[in-house]
Amino acid sequence: MRAGRHFLLRGESLRAIIEGIPAGYDIIGPVREKWAVNLAVLDSADDLSLNSRSEESPGRYRLRDENAGPGEARPMNSAKSFTHRARETLYRARLDEDRQWQYRPAAAPKVKQAFFGLHACDIAGMSVMDRTFNKRFRDAQYDRRRQHTIVIGVDCFEPGENCFCSTFNAGPTLTNGFDLGLSRFGDEYLVEIATDMGARIMNDVDLKPAHRDMLELRKKRAASARAGMVRAFDLKQAVKVLNKNYEHPYWFEVSERCLSCANCINVCPTCYCYQILDKSNLALTETARVRQWDACQNLDFAAVHGGNFRPNRADRIRQWVNHKLNWTIEQYGCAGCVGCGRCITWCPTAIDITEPVRRLGGKEIKLVA
Ligand code: SF4
Ligand code: SF4
Repeated sequence: MRAGRHFLLRGESLRAIIEGIPAGYDIIGPVREKWAVNLAVLDSADDLSLNSRSEESPGRYRLRDENAGPGEARPMNSAKSFTHRARETLYRARLDEDRQWQYRPAAAPKVKQAFFGLHACDIAGMSVMDRTFNKRFRDAQYDRRRQHTIVIGVDCFEPGENCFCSTFNAGPTLTNGFDLGLSRFGDEYLVEIATDMGARIMNDVDLKPAHRDMLELRKKRAASARAGMVRAFDLKQAVKVLNKNYEHPYWFEVSERCLSCANCINVCPTCYCYQILDKSNLALTETARVRQWDACQNLDFAAVHGGNFRPNRADRIRQWVNHKLNWTIEQYGCAGCVGCGRCITWCPTAIDITEPVRRLGGKEIKLVA
């Protein structure tokens, strides 16, 4: 089997893809956990969430029971939970009998991970994280996890109410960054084999060549999904609007609703900030240096020697919105947002990252949906 071809797969053969993933990989896919779907390590293909679809609106997430494909219930977490761990020990140190510190690096992280059922926005999110941790600066832990990563993506034909990935050309359908791409059409899947690894996974799977009509249908459904994204906007105009309204009273108004809970950061596939903590025993003879996620919405995020340079929630919300939609473009050459909508869904007070763009832009902003 060669890369670069499209095939048809019967829905009941989906598990054959999971079984075709080479041994030694942790397989990570959408799993239903009570009231939400999360990405989690699968024990088998039976763990996959295939009986629920999610409905989102600002501050709201519900699952509806129905026959669905992987990814049709959007998971709360993203691949970030596996590539940039929420908390990890970097090294440990111990004071020996001669009162010399002995350093022991943490065990090398598990390096082989296969993601099953990622949407295009989440694959784009991985690429944003790569720019931070794996380009100009190389982070050893992150790099080891990314070196051996398989990505099996799935087209999103029914974006949620909070989605706006088309703003960043980050979806809704797959374009790059995957080994295998799936598009669900009822009981069948169109499979795109994009890499040699994708071909290897599909080697023993019974496939029929895809008819050109399927490819045309995929294009139509992608266009209709794109047109349905009511929150999408013109990014270049948004940048101008944000730059022009840095001191606008809107930031104080919206901050009245912010709890500084950092949910928006934790669920975001592209937020990468972390803090370094030293955790010592009471005798101060042993210590572990730990890295854990931090968030610009936290009160003490900007606390430095001599004070806190973002003491107000308004300062922090403005920083967050600008960093995601504006300043990262200069910093990394791409926005720090992929429009997955998670921050809008999981904000307990329904704060919407696209609202400042619409409110401050007024007629200047072209909504592209
Ligand atoms: S800022 Fe919000 S919409 Fe953008 S990538 Fe992060 S969670 Fe998704
Ligand atoms: S914007 Fe929402 S999710 Fe983010 S810190 Fe404020 S209340 Fe929490």
